[in-house]
Amino acid sequence: MGEEKFDAIIVGGGLAGSTAAYVLAQEGLEVLLIERGNYGGSKNMTGGRLYAHSLEEIIPNFAEEAPVERRVVKERISMMTEQDAVTMDYHSPYLAETGSDSYVVLRGEFDRWLFNKAEEAGAIAAAGIKVDKLIMENNRVTGVICGDEEMKADVVILADGVNSLLAEKAGLRKRVQPSQVAVGVKEIYELPAKVIEDRFGLTGNEGAAWLFAGSPSNGLVGGGFLYTNKESISIGLVLGLENIGESDKTIEEMLISFTNHPEIAPLIKDGKLIERSGHVVPEAGLSMVSTLYGDGFLICGDAAGFCLNIGYMVRGMDLAITSGELAAKAVLAAREKGDFSSASLKSYKELLDKSFIMHDLSVYQNFPAFMDNDRIFNQYPEMVSNIMKEMFVVDGKPAVPLRKKAMKHLKTIGLMNLVKDGLKGVKSV
Ligand SMILES: Cc1cc2nc3c(=O)[nH]c(=O)nc-3n(C[C@H](O)[C@H](O)[C@H](O)COP(=O)(O)OP(=O)(O)OC[C@H]3O[C@@H](n4cnc5c(N)ncnc54)[C@H](O)[C@@H]3O)c2cc1C
Repeated sequence: MGEEKFDAIIVGGGLAGSTAAYVLAQEGLEVLLIERGNYGGSKNMTGGRLYAHSLEEIIPNFAEEAPVERRVVKERISMMTEQDAVTMDYHSPYLAETGSDSYVVLRGEFDRWLFNKAEEAGAIAAAGIKVDKLIMENNRVTGVICGDEEMKADVVILADGVNSLLAEKAGLRKRVQPSQVAVGVKEIYELPAKVIEDRFGLTGNEGAAWLFAGSPSNGLVGGGFLYTNKESISIGLVLGLENIGESDKTIEEMLISFTNHPEIAPLIKDGKLIERSGHVVPEAGLSMVSTLYGDGFLICGDAAGFCLNIGYMVRGMDLAITSGELAAKAVLAAREKGDFSSASLKSYKELLDKSFIMHDLSVYQNFPAFMDNDRIFNQYPEMVSNIMKEMFVVDGKPAVPLRKKAMKHLKTIGLMNLVKDGLKGVKSV
């Protein structure tokens, strides 16, 4: 690598970085993609479900060749207390239609595939190398330092994930705050495909996605998730980092309670625990989006804060892919002009503004504030569970009109709180 100057250096072989490298290499640029893990994806973790639309634009029909696990046709959302669960189930072929399809993926395999696609397209894809520092000359990023090696480029794309320590160290962006992120923990249980299909009512490559609010996060901002892979089940928790210290349970204890819950335990019964992982998730939506470009650099994916958690869905992967693509497009435009200054790379922001990324982040910008409400994670699941109990339990005692029974539980939250939360909720989406 030595003295060579590249057209572009991309830091991070996750979905954002590999996409940027793929698009630039396809246009014939000399691209160096650097990943600190032993292979693209080796350090990455997700729930997780990839909404296909973003990658479909770049690699049509990618799901036919990529290592996807299952196509999601079943969505479930549950409110849970320690003992019970109230579940909404949506099973529909619409979810599988091209353009609105989504796939459960295991990042180790999926990212590795995309990393290799970038290499096949002509990028030099270097795994097992950590970028330690950015080279700054006259306040301009001109390359990267890995150990004692310096590598230069017209432009550096930072796709190094949520903390983006490189940008922070170089003073290009502010430090990520605990209130802006959550911690995600996940376990994978291996089970035969047939068992998974029977337990979830699936056939062939159909998959299920399931999110949980209430007891899984032990009252903290956050929730549980479950996704069906081909021959395993991914299950875990996402917990707001800021309040974890206040919990009377450790993360480990919360995960044990969740996997032992009467709703969950039968689904993973006899499954062999084959993997455990943890990762940070950007959660603050639009307010977290920080510096996006400057002289000689662009930032994309989680490193830029592009992630949406709106309770019933988490989306970071499609934003990472499209932001990587748009960063590459901005580099191509800058190259035409022979100008990699901030003024020229500004086109990245213009492309983002026209894309679904900034649009969706704006639409849901009030959602993180709405979620910052204890009642959602404590009292509402309890209330819904109690109302269900009143509705379905028949024990021979004289019947009480349902509205009376329901009112008793609604009053535990307070009618004013219900109205306030309802209005805030409606406004936030
Ligand atoms: C528990 C959990 C559940 C989630 N569920 C979903 C979901 O269901 N759907 C969804 O769309 N999103 C989900 N997300 C979010 C999604 O995983 C992220 O938004 C996505 O991974 C962002 O991709 P990225 O390429 O920007 O960053 P990353 O995937 O973090 O990739 C960054 C890469 O940079 C590398 N790197 C970092 N520093 C250096 C360095 N100095 N030198 C070289 N390489 C470096 C890392 O090793 C890594 O490979 C979830 C996240 C978590 C944690």
